[in-house]
Amino acid sequence: MFNKKTRIKDLLANESLNYEVIVMGWVRTFRNNQFIALNDGSTNNNLQVVAELGKFDESVLKRITTGAALKVSGEIIPSLGKGQKIELKAHLIEILGDSDPEKYPLQPKKHSLEFLREKAHLRFRTNTFAAIFRVRHTLSFAVHKFFNDKGFIYLHTPIITASDAEGAGELFRVTSFDLINPAKNENGSINYKEDFFGKATNLTVSGQLEGELAAMALADVYTFGPTFRAENSNTARHLAEFWMIEPEMAFYDLEDNMNLAEEFIKYIIKYALENNKDDLEFLSQRLADEEKEKPQNERSEMGLIEKLEFVINNNFERLTYTEAVQILKESNHNKKKKFQYLIEDWGVDLQSEHERYLVEKHFKKPVILTDYPKNIKAFYMRQNDDGKTVAAMDILAPGIGEIVGGSQREERLNKLTERMNEMHISTEELDWYLDTRRFGTVPHAGFGLGFERLVQFVTGMSNIRDVIPFPRTPKSAEF
Ligand code: ATP
Ligand code: MN
Repeated sequence: MFNKKTRIKDLLANESLNYEVIVMGWVRTFRNNQFIALNDGSTNNNLQVVAELGKFDESVLKRITTGAALKVSGEIIPSLGKGQKIELKAHLIEILGDSDPEKYPLQPKKHSLEFLREKAHLRFRTNTFAAIFRVRHTLSFAVHKFFNDKGFIYLHTPIITASDAEGAGELFRVTSFDLINPAKNENGSINYKEDFFGKATNLTVSGQLEGELAAMALADVYTFGPTFRAENSNTARHLAEFWMIEPEMAFYDLEDNMNLAEEFIKYIIKYALENNKDDLEFLSQRLADEEKEKPQNERSEMGLIEKLEFVINNNFERLTYTEAVQILKESNHNKKKKFQYLIEDWGVDLQSEHERYLVEKHFKKPVILTDYPKNIKAFYMRQNDDGKTVAAMDILAPGIGEIVGGSQREERLNKLTERMNEMHISTEELDWYLDTRRFGTVPHAGFGLGFERLVQFVTGMSNIRDVIPFPRTPKSAEF
């Protein structure tokens, strides 16, 4: 057996002294031919390993370079240096993997996020990305814990599907056809009957419709899986492949839905604060340093941790789309034409500049907007009695914009099919979905939360490409 290592995180948390351990990790820095900062991924804090002068061969010392992998056995002793309570006095240093300092792309200095995006295969080795991906792990664990504790069932919805849940049409096709020579119908169109699944298929854009099927028997379900959108939006908050959390609950109305979403977001953030304090403090400092580079009026008023605590401790602001449009229309921003898209009429979709104005300038807290015009929302949302709006809700977060999109679903068969016809959505193709409304239909609701946007919010990272290990965006699918 090879692995008898102690994790550096556990060593640093332990008060005891003068005992023998084995550690394994990667060299971050090596100073004065004597002090090794060793990191093993368990924490951002390095272990100081001391190679006493004269005790180790020059041939070994030469190979202790940034990025090299070591196995060290020795004794934990009190540290005289500042910055750490303990250090490891090395008895034996074994080089597991060399790292040629002339060729290793990461230098022991600060690299830009853009540079590290190009080196995504190595960026885990930096403090920033190690912290981000530990936090990402904690958040995803908390997602499952939250729902499991509430008795929800984790549902695996399909990744390959023949339906386009949003009706938005931004799909990645899945086919096993030879693209040069696909089977064709007589009129020259592609004959998907001959394709692998016998019909046109695509990567899922949402697991919602399938989630609704399960909710009609299991009552409270959630999905947490990858979703794919071929939207050509090269923004700091869109990915072509992202992870979405979609709970779907029978016997829920819109208010129940909002209550759950708000409780969920607060729970997840609190869980990260309790379990990843070190990493969040590190990221908070990183953000503070980044903010210092910005002009005064663009800096945020709160630090990262402060902001997270604020979100946990305050109610989200809830208002209708109609009220929001009124606020935006009357805002000085609109009057002075500072919006790129001016708000003139009721019924327009809000742009991210409007969402951010409401959240960051007007309310200064997360906002839940409800009851949107039916014409800008999906067919399955429950129609309100006014004939104009639907029981939708979007949650907007500072710095991110839309983080959750949800609704009470239309449970009335006639209303639903009417709307589908209006929107030219085939009731035939979705016949299986309509069965939920034919047999034992109930009020129900659900939402979708983009996991990466949540990770962005919690880590304070401004670009979504920096919170998923290997981002997929237009013209980019490296690694
Ligand atoms: P947006 O207006 O920001 O494009 P959307 O209205 O298309 O969002 P929904 O279809 O409601 O979003 O999806 C639910 C959630 O999934 C969103 O609230 C958001 O958090 C997330 N999301 C949507 N599209 C993306 C994407 N391309 N990359 C990352 N997350 C996304
Ligand atoms: Mn979108």
